[in-house]
Amino acid sequence: MTIILGLESSCDETAAALVTAEGKILAHRLATQEDAHRPYGGVVPEIAARAHVEALAPLVEAALADAELTLGDVDVIAATAGPGLIGGVMVGLVTGKALAHAAGKPLVAVNHLEGHALSPRLADPSLQFPYLLLLVSGGHCQLLHVRGPGDYARLATTIDDAAGEAFDKTAKLLGLGFPGGPAVEKAAAKGNPRAVPLPRPLLGTDDPHFSFAGLKSAVMRAAQSGQYNSEDIAASFQQAVVDCLIDRTRRALKASPGITALVVAGGVAANQAVRGALTALAGEFDLPFVAPPLWLCTDNAAMIAWAGAERYAAGLVDDLSIPARPRWPLDPDAEKARGAGVKA
Ligand code: AMP
Ligand code: MG
Repeated sequence: MTIILGLESSCDETAAALVTAEGKILAHRLATQEDAHRPYGGVVPEIAARAHVEALAPLVEAALADAELTLGDVDVIAATAGPGLIGGVMVGLVTGKALAHAAGKPLVAVNHLEGHALSPRLADPSLQFPYLLLLVSGGHCQLLHVRGPGDYARLATTIDDAAGEAFDKTAKLLGLGFPGGPAVEKAAAKGNPRAVPLPRPLLGTDDPHFSFAGLKSAVMRAAQSGQYNSEDIAASFQQAVVDCLIDRTRRALKASPGITALVVAGGVAANQAVRGALTALAGEFDLPFVAPPLWLCTDNAAMIAWAGAERYAAGLVDDLSIPARPRWPLDPDAEKARGAGVKA
């Protein structure tokens, strides 16, 4: 039995997990920093990095204790090496290198986005390559063909904000609290999704990409007008995001012959309206819809351990000199999307 220890520290969750090469989760531990960042209404990089320093090693010890294992029982060390807030990434990657060196075990440096991209296969072992992935998180909004570990083709990305970022900014604007996504979803449940006329940027166009900046500005104007309550704005905003995600994903599905499934991953995949609409969309194309359970959608170390397992099985191991990377696109050959604020 091959056992992989995974470490995650790229944003505001510190996590350690133990997963087998067969996809059995032996232990997963997570410490969220939400309380530390709440007063600022967003993640403060230096506070995050310092908190990872304090939390990570005890979480590794706790995960090993949960699984009744010692470091000597671990076969592979997998650590997030980017993309993310660089201070945090460095904490996790250096910890991974130190553990790999001390235990004499191979290191697999994992792209955090690959962790999200492969997590559906941890949840559903029958999921086969290639599949179409909608990756919707706080920093990314992309459509990708997932062809295998380290083998991705990006079809679309956002030309401005990520979907999760739009949720977070809307929550801040409406004073709904932090983290924003779940707060907007909760408020939206009490509102009318047709109450506020909001734009759907790029909807129905030939352009494959996403855009949410115009929607965010329209939300700001609606809030400032004093005409609407925050529940109606939240519901109308969420509906506009769903409409954009579905339209762009439908376009990508039409350009994806031979895929086995429509898959969603990343924090926004925790949103029930998004999941419901994607389930219906997959049905239109007679494809299975695969979404990891909610805890696997948001940042965690089980997905990093699993991506480590998949890469290790494919013979992909890394040197102890591998750098930490704040930016690290899954498809380095993808053309740059037009627009300002290009996200990798
Ligand atoms: P990640 O970047 O993958 O860690 O995901 C975090 C992002 O997911 C943040 O932008 C959250 O606001 C967003 N998110 C989490 N839960 C929800 C939800 N229920 N609805 C919408 N967005 C969410
Ligand atoms: Mg993430």
